[in-house]
This record gives sequence, structure tokens and C-alpha cells, in this order.
Amino acid sequence: MRAYVGVGTNLGDRWAHLALAARALAAAPRVALVRASRVLDTAPLGPPQPRFLNAALELETGLPPRALLLLLQGIEREALRRPAVRWGPRSLDLDLLLADDLIMAEPGLTLPHPGLTSRRFVLQPLAELCGERVVPGTGRSVAALLAAAPPWDGRDAGLYPR
Ligand code: AMP
Repeated sequence: MRAYVGVGTNLGDRWAHLALAARALAAAPRVALVRASRVLDTAPLGPPQPRFLNAALELETGLPPRALLLLLQGIEREALRRPAVRWGPRSLDLDLLLADDLIMAEPGLTLPHPGLTSRRFVLQPLAELCGERVVPGTGRSVAALLAAAPPWDGRDAGLYPR
């Protein structure tokens, strides 16, 4: 299964959180980390809070979607357990954006990820990895959805850390 994961972090050592996500996925059984997008520095949506780093990861995996989601949630908890500064703020959000052409709406697992189609901070890194891919259920490519997404405050922050 080809899967795409959205990575977001806006507290603590954000670059360390990105690196932890890539390392943990690359080390996981039945998961190969194929590619990472560049990293974006983006303004938060919603209530006032620190800026985010956002990126996307492309995986090839033998895990079914539910098992992959459990793996992602385990990595999020790992980031909570190992803050760069003890008791310091930390956060790592891993979203399963796409898994092959699957469409699912189960408790706790929706595919494609519901925030995917309108959020530029998700679409832009994803477009770098698979712009031509049609998002199941929309009939539109990632690149087309990106072109139609609302403007935003985001800038390139560099290569994904390893
Ligand atoms: P959040 O904290 O905003 O990342 O939301 C996490 C919640 O979204 C968890 O309860 C997940 O079970 C649920 N969820 C549903 N679909 C997905 C998905 N495709 N990827 C990640 N989380 C998902």
C-alpha cells in the first residue's frame, strides 16, 4: 500500500519532532519511508498559537490502514514522552492523508483525511510528492485541489531533517 502522512508540529523542538517521525517510520516493521517533502513554516489556523512546521511523508507499507494509524499514534505518544526539554511544550501530529485509493469512514479512521481537500499546509507538501494523484472521492488531483485552496501565510523552511 502506498500511503501519505501529514506531519505537523508547533511546540517544543519542532525540527526534532520532524526527525523523530521520519526515524520512527523508517525503523518500523513493514514500513519503508520512500520520500519526504520539503518543510513549510505556516501560520496556525484557529486560536492564537505558535507557528507550525508542516511536511508530508510518502510510505510504502504492508500494514493495513488501521494498523498504520495505530503506528502513527504510537509515534505521537513517543514524541510526548521525549520532549527536548523535560516538561517543556511539545507536540507532534501525524495524519494518515491517503492510503492507495481507499475511501473509508469508520469510527476513528476517515480516508482520505477529512482536512485534506482544503488545507494548503497539507496540500502543498503532498503535491510535491504526488501532485498528479487523484484524491479518491473528489475526482480532482492533489495539484488541482492545491490551486483552488484558500491563500495562506506559509513559507519554505528547508529540507526535511533526518
Ligand atoms: P487530531 O488530534 O486532530 O490529529 O485527531 C486525531 C483523531 O482523528 C483520532 O481520534 C483519529 O482516530 C482520528 N482520525 C480519523 N481519521 C484519521 C486519519 N485519516 N488520520 C489520522 N487520524 C484520523
